[in-house]
Amino acid sequence: MKKPMIFCDFDGTITNSDNIIAIMKRFAPPEWERVKDDILDGRLSVQKGVSYMFSLLPSSLKKEIVAFLLENATIREGFADFVAYVKKTDIPFYVVSGGIDFFVHPLLEKWIEKEHIFCNSARFDRETIEIIWPYSCDEHCRNQCGCCKPSLIRKLANEEHSIIVIGDSITDLQAAKLADHVIARDFLLQKCRELNLSHTPFTTFFDVIDFFEEMKVKR
Ligand SMILES: [Mg+2]
Ligand SMILES: [Zn+2]
Repeated sequence: MKKPMIFCDFDGTITNSDNIIAIMKRFAPPEWERVKDDILDGRLSVQKGVSYMFSLLPSSLKKEIVAFLLENATIREGFADFVAYVKKTDIPFYVVSGGIDFFVHPLLEKWIEKEHIFCNSARFDRETIEIIWPYSCDEHCRNQCGCCKPSLIRKLANEEHSIIVIGDSITDLQAAKLADHVIARDFLLQKCRELNLSHTPFTTFFDVIDFFEEMKVKR
């Protein structure tokens, strides 16, 4: 029987809402909204759009941004229990995130080792924030994802794994198509229904634990 391997989104999945949007709302000049719309309408790649949005922010804001998120971002119910559950049951668990390390790591450091987190990076040595892309698309993906989830799945999983993707949005869709099963909410849930992908809806991480418990019974 195949062993599950989990690829879990961060923004809107582990956290209740999107942190890049929260940062822009709080710190960026109004033009960030046009960039966001261009990304959502497919006129701009995620990679180009996110680069542009962060270039609107002075590097000197770094500490303030992290403090703002630590104060305001909320973690989805059941996440701490779920992390304990995957450790206990020895299921490989990776966070794959289009977020940026300088806020993803502080928000997750209580629960997840850095080696299990794949996200974008940033530098603060110029006037405005510059985003770096350590996990950009491999030769099979032309989406300019920024942090390319399908490429990471190809790199980390093999034939022996049952790939489980947990996510909420358009940025999880290509990974969901590679998954054996998707655990989805919001837009991703709607897409899983439309495309007939094998999936389970979730609201809290207690629902996700229930899914794995049932999977164990079936195995
Ligand atoms: Mg998300
Ligand atoms: Zn890609």
